[in-house]
Amino acid sequence: MKKIDVVIIGAGPVGLFAVHQLGIKGLKAVVIDNLDKAGGQCIELYPDKPIYDIPAVPECTGEELTKNLLEQIKPFKTEFFYNERVDEVKQDKDNWIVKTNKNNEFTSPSIIIAGGVGSFEPRKLSVKNTEKYEGKSLFYSVKNKDDFKNKNISIFGGGDSALDWALELSKFSKITLIHRRSDFRGAPHTLAEIKKLEDEGKISIKTPCQLESIIGEKNIESISIKFEDGKTEKIKTDIILSFFGLVMKLGPIAEWDLNMNKKTIEVNSKNFETNKKGIFAAGDICFYPGKLKLILSGFHEVALASVECFKRARPNEKYRFEFTTSSKSIQDRLGKK
Ligand SMILES: Cc1cc2nc3c(=O)[nH]c(=O)nc-3n(C[C@H](O)[C@H](O)[C@H](O)COP(=O)(O)OP(=O)(O)OC[C@H]3O[C@@H](n4cnc5c(N)ncnc54)[C@H](O)[C@@H]3O)c2cc1C
Repeated sequence: MKKIDVVIIGAGPVGLFAVHQLGIKGLKAVVIDNLDKAGGQCIELYPDKPIYDIPAVPECTGEELTKNLLEQIKPFKTEFFYNERVDEVKQDKDNWIVKTNKNNEFTSPSIIIAGGVGSFEPRKLSVKNTEKYEGKSLFYSVKNKDDFKNKNISIFGGGDSALDWALELSKFSKITLIHRRSDFRGAPHTLAEIKKLEDEGKISIKTPCQLESIIGEKNIESISIKFEDGKTEKIKTDIILSFFGLVMKLGPIAEWDLNMNKKTIEVNSKNFETNKKGIFAAGDICFYPGKLKLILSGFHEVALASVECFKRARPNEKYRFEFTTSSKSIQDRLGKK
C-alpha cells in the first residue's frame, strides 16, 4: 500500500491544478483517472474548441489548457495512474484507504475528489450478455495494436476512432467496418482513404446496419448484422472493436456515504470538505450554494481545499500563507533559482 499526502481522484483541469496547489505547499499527491490521459472533459469533449474565460489567457483550446496545466506541475514529479477507476474509499482511523479496480491501494489523510461528471466509460454494445467476451474478443479501445494482428475484425462506429483504427488495423488484418448510418463522421482525408481501401477490396463496409447477435461460446466466432431493410448477414469475426463514444457515470462515488445533491457531492464553501473529514470535492462534482460549473471555480476550490490538506498531512506544522512571487520555499519547490 502506497502512503501519500493526498490522493486526487480525476485528472481533469481541476485535479491537475490541485497537484499544483498541494505541491507549492510541499505536499505530495498521486492522481488516478479512469481515462488513458489527463484533461477530463477538456480533452474528451472539446480538445479543439477555444475557451475564453481562463483568467489572463484570452483564448486557448481544451488541449492547450491541459498541456499548460501539465507543464505547470512538472516540477512536482507527480505519479499518475491512468486507466484506473477508484472503486473503494474506506476509513482507517485518521486516514483513508483508496482502492482502484486494478487493486492499487493508497493510504492518505486526505482525498480530493475532482471527478467532474463521473468517470468516462465506453458506451457498451446494446446486445445482451456481451461481458463474457470483454477483454478477450470484444474491446472498446486498443491498448496494443499487436494484439490485433492477422484477425477478422468487425469495427463498429461512425466517428474518427472507428475510421482511424479501421485504416491502421487494415495493414495486417481483415476489417469489416459497420455503421448504423450510411454516412461516416470522419475527417475528409480519412474518409477518402477508407473509400480507396474499400475499392481495393481491403476493407469491407456495411451500412446502414446494426449488430443483431454474436455467435461463439467462449470467444467470438461470427456475428450477425441486420440492415435497415430487415435483411441479415453473418460475418466471420474473431474480434469486435466498438467505438460508440463515451458515457459519463458517477459510478462508485455514489457509494461512499457522502452527502449528495442529485449527482454532485455537497461541500462547505470554506474548505470544500464533504460530510467526511479529510474528503474534499472540487470542480464540477461539488455542490454548494452559488456553485458555477466553470474551470476557474474549480481552481479556487482546490486552492482552499489544499490548505486543509496541509493541516491534515502536517499536524505539527503551522500553515503559513505565502505568495509565489516572494516565497523562497515555494520557488525552491518549483525549481526556480
Ligand atoms: C463542450 C464544453 C465546453 C465547455 N466550455 C467551458 C468554458 O468555456 N469555460 C469553462 O470554464 N468551462 C467550460 N466547460 C466546463 C469545463 O470543461 C468543466 O467545468 C471542467 O472540465 C471541470 O473539470 P473537473 O476537473 O472538475 O472535471 P472533468 O473535466 O470532468 O474531469 C474529471 C475526471 O475525473 C475522472 N473520474 C471520475 N470519477 C472517477 C473515478 N471513480 N476513478 C477515476 N477517475 C474518475 C474522469 O474520468 C475525468 O477524467 C465546458 C464543458 C463542455 C462539455
